[in-house]
Amino acid sequence: MLGLMQEWPLLCHRIIDHAATYHGERPVVTRSVEGPIFTTNYAAIRARALKLAKRLDKDGVKLGDRVATLAWNTWRHLETWYGILGIGAVYHTVNPRLFPEQLIWIINHAEDRVMMTDLTFVPLLEKLADRLPKIERYIVLTDAAHMPKTSLKNAVAYEEWIGEVDGDFAWKSFDENTAAGMCYTSGTTGNPKGVLYSHRSNVLHAFMAALPDSKNLSVRDVCMPVVPMFHANGWSLAFSTPMVGASLVLPGAKMDGASIYELLDAYKVTFTAAVPTVWLMLLQELEKTGAKLPHLKRVVIGGSAAPRAMTQKFEQTYGVEVVHAWGMTEMSPLGSLCTMKPEYAQLTGEARLDIQQKQGHPPFGVEMKITDDADKKLPWDGKTFGRLKVRGPAVARCYFKAENEKILDAEGFFDTGDVSTIDPYGYMQITDRAKDVIKSGGEWISSIDIENLAIGHPKVAEAAVIGIKHPKWDERPLLVVVMKKDQTATKEDILAFMQGKIAKWWMPDDVAFVDEIPHTATGKILKIALRERFKNYVLPTAQAAE
Ligand code: ADP
Repeated sequence: MLGLMQEWPLLCHRIIDHAATYHGERPVVTRSVEGPIFTTNYAAIRARALKLAKRLDKDGVKLGDRVATLAWNTWRHLETWYGILGIGAVYHTVNPRLFPEQLIWIINHAEDRVMMTDLTFVPLLEKLADRLPKIERYIVLTDAAHMPKTSLKNAVAYEEWIGEVDGDFAWKSFDENTAAGMCYTSGTTGNPKGVLYSHRSNVLHAFMAALPDSKNLSVRDVCMPVVPMFHANGWSLAFSTPMVGASLVLPGAKMDGASIYELLDAYKVTFTAAVPTVWLMLLQELEKTGAKLPHLKRVVIGGSAAPRAMTQKFEQTYGVEVVHAWGMTEMSPLGSLCTMKPEYAQLTGEARLDIQQKQGHPPFGVEMKITDDADKKLPWDGKTFGRLKVRGPAVARCYFKAENEKILDAEGFFDTGDVSTIDPYGYMQITDRAKDVIKSGGEWISSIDIENLAIGHPKVAEAAVIGIKHPKWDERPLLVVVMKKDQTATKEDILAFMQGKIAKWWMPDDVAFVDEIPHTATGKILKIALRERFKNYVLPTAQAAE
């Protein structure tokens, strides 16, 4: 027997309808790519998204067609998402930080028909355009006055292009399982893989993201997503924020410490989210100027492990609650958030920081398990680590154009490629990427733990740990460090600092000093490049063992 409730497909554009109806006047503030601050609201964004939808429809863009966006977080970018998915087309966010070859591969693989780009990326696209045969037209997200002369095919200024139609248009309606958005993983190994979100998965995920023990968003919040919309579905902020009617502040192209501080202060931002690199820049700026953060209540740190010292600074010096979060493109992207359950709520100082090093517990809609190499479930004791697998309505079941390749196990779980522990209260802690784990004498060593410890050395700016071949132990850890500006240290200094803080057999066998550590397009350490660089490296302990 079926239930007798209404058919109301979970379609993403219903979110902007709701925001426009009940929170229409709520400000959406942007630092525009052209320069000045621009303020609009949800009602205007919806009205313009409808125009965009009508214009795309007129241009022949149909259900299932992909429309690429290469853009910063701005009100126009937000409009493009809703306009595109409101006719059943698919927004495809492209990460401008990828290498040109990857961009070409991704855009061609997705078969994007239209490219919507910020002014910033016009020169980049002009160089690539010859190799993007499927793109029929380029829409530059600006007005006629700022439109550059460009060789891009059928290029037109966004404002002129949507200005050619009125807003008398109705969203299309379709099955809630229809594709809505697309985002490629950065592909640190092999080709990038396309993750294809549906309307249903995005809407359910937005509910999950807004919950009190997720981002705890409310209509009273002023929310600034610094994490770009092109990074892992923009961490759902383009959906969860209008869903609750919170005000938005969008940083555009400027994410340096001073620019971010200026917006936090001027618009009394209460909630913000980004990767650790962004917060490092902000904290350095605050230290330099002595400024405080009186309005900011919560900061979500994710994408890479939140360093302990960063969490401590935000909470103890600036009075801002840190929510450490973990997720991935394949999960829409939220997987877990570290908020305090009653069992941990009373903790303070170092004990609280110990818990905040964990990536946290999942919201409803994410199931987790850890398994060994034989796929056997491992205990939740906070110590045993294994492959982290997940299941849920906003988790990918296969990749775009690879529908026949199985990526789920027999129970329908997706292997995240991360290695983690889970404690008795359900708090997950990442110990490594499966491919980065160091296998020493049949045991696993977590590279992340050693890196976090090394970063605590006052003179160390950045640290990475990789496994180096060893005749006796198979692999042993090599610590690669970048020193802070004008600072020096010896291998012995660094190792002495770490002594006693980790198991003896986890101590790196050697320390290599480098000027720079390579990063991926989303700011993660590019271990594959480090491994290549050090592939012929001989550890002093290896010589001794031979
Ligand atoms: P990209 O490489 O494009 O950034 P994702 O955002 O999908 O791709 O990356 C997901 C991966 O990032 C996770 O599988 C995990 O390894 C890492 N990650 C994300 N958040 C954290 C975190 N809080 N701590 C440690 N690792 C994290």
